[in-house]
Amino acid sequence: MASQSAPSRGADVAQRPEGSPAAAPAQSGQSASTHPYWSDHVGDLAPYTPGEQPRVEGLLKLNTNEHPYGPSPRALEAIRAAAGDALRLYPDYDSVALRQAVAALHGIDPAQVFPGNGSDEVLAHIFDGLFRKAGRVLLMPDISYSFYKTYCRLYRIDCELIPLAEDFSIRAADYADHGGPLAGIIFANPNAPTGMEMSQADIESILRAHPDIPVVVDEAYVDFGARSAVPLLARYPNLLLVRTLSKSRALAGMRVGYALGSAELVEGLRRIKDSFNSYPLDRLAQAAAVAAIEDREHFEQGLRAVIQARDDLVRSLAALGFEVLPSRANFVFARHPAHDAARLAAALREQRILVRYFKMPRIEQFLRISVGTPADCERLCNVLADILGAH
Ligand SMILES: *Cc1c(COP(=O)(O)O)cnc(C)c1O
Repeated sequence: MASQSAPSRGADVAQRPEGSPAAAPAQSGQSASTHPYWSDHVGDLAPYTPGEQPRVEGLLKLNTNEHPYGPSPRALEAIRAAAGDALRLYPDYDSVALRQAVAALHGIDPAQVFPGNGSDEVLAHIFDGLFRKAGRVLLMPDISYSFYKTYCRLYRIDCELIPLAEDFSIRAADYADHGGPLAGIIFANPNAPTGMEMSQADIESILRAHPDIPVVVDEAYVDFGARSAVPLLARYPNLLLVRTLSKSRALAGMRVGYALGSAELVEGLRRIKDSFNSYPLDRLAQAAAVAAIEDREHFEQGLRAVIQARDDLVRSLAALGFEVLPSRANFVFARHPAHDAARLAAALREQRILVRYFKMPRIEQFLRISVGTPADCERLCNVLADILGAH
């Protein structure tokens, strides 16, 4: 059996259909498929579709918001140092060194830090451990990180989708004024895939309105120029923040994320984790994460480069006639008044450039484009200019 798959050619990537997000409605209903081998709920799941990772030569990947530059050299060194005989031993189940490094980074107590195998796993434990409450609904924006809907299906959580405002911002009053009964609230700040930031005052209004339920703010992209809600942790025991090392620390391949919150929230998550997998972070990941967090210079240098490239990209896209939402992330969300987004994405794909396209109401004319190096952005804009000019 040929188990080795050769890297596919450009022609293949051009023909492959674009992965769409978990666009299936969150409401329960008819199961798409099932099998007698499966548990009862498996047919009803709406699995998340990750951005593709094709192995194609010369491919420009601007579809999954990875960092365009490598991780800290100190992180790579730490991985090499950890790759030894000690791997026969289980890792620290409590990730003490990592929790200390994270706590020092944010100026909080290590007991307020809950690490996991990527923030996706942390989010899964949050949905399982904090939002499964009979007779209550979880509030989230209709347009946000699509994994949230997937977890609602998996854990059978009733959710109410709150539409974004006309300008694609999250309207805090819709959450603060909601009568409930609520299980919790979750949104991303900056939001995905819009990249737009919510103000600290707005976040605080939601926290104040709902002191009895967890309010979870996914700060996956906050390092790229938005204001973090970390200072609010001291005053709001209902606030839980989620962070990842995948985006701003260029470690998507190591799978490290964490939550920050009060001891009560963290204890709830720890009970779930130790009922699921006591060792979510392996030795290499823990070592890499500590070193990456401690290398602030490399981190800040990478941020400056991405932010500069983003601001240049926004100007270039605007010059091509695109409308670009105000981004505080390492991606931009843009639409062209005269060109269909699905066709643009397909035309880019033919030129071996991948961007993310979501076939969803209200945003089906947008492209989400990750910020690459200045050379990446230039290649993208040159190809776009050709495509736009040819139609
Ligand atoms: C990328 C992303 C995540 C997942 O991050 P991992 O730590 O790589 O699992 C979570 N939330 C949002 C909004 C993201 O964009």
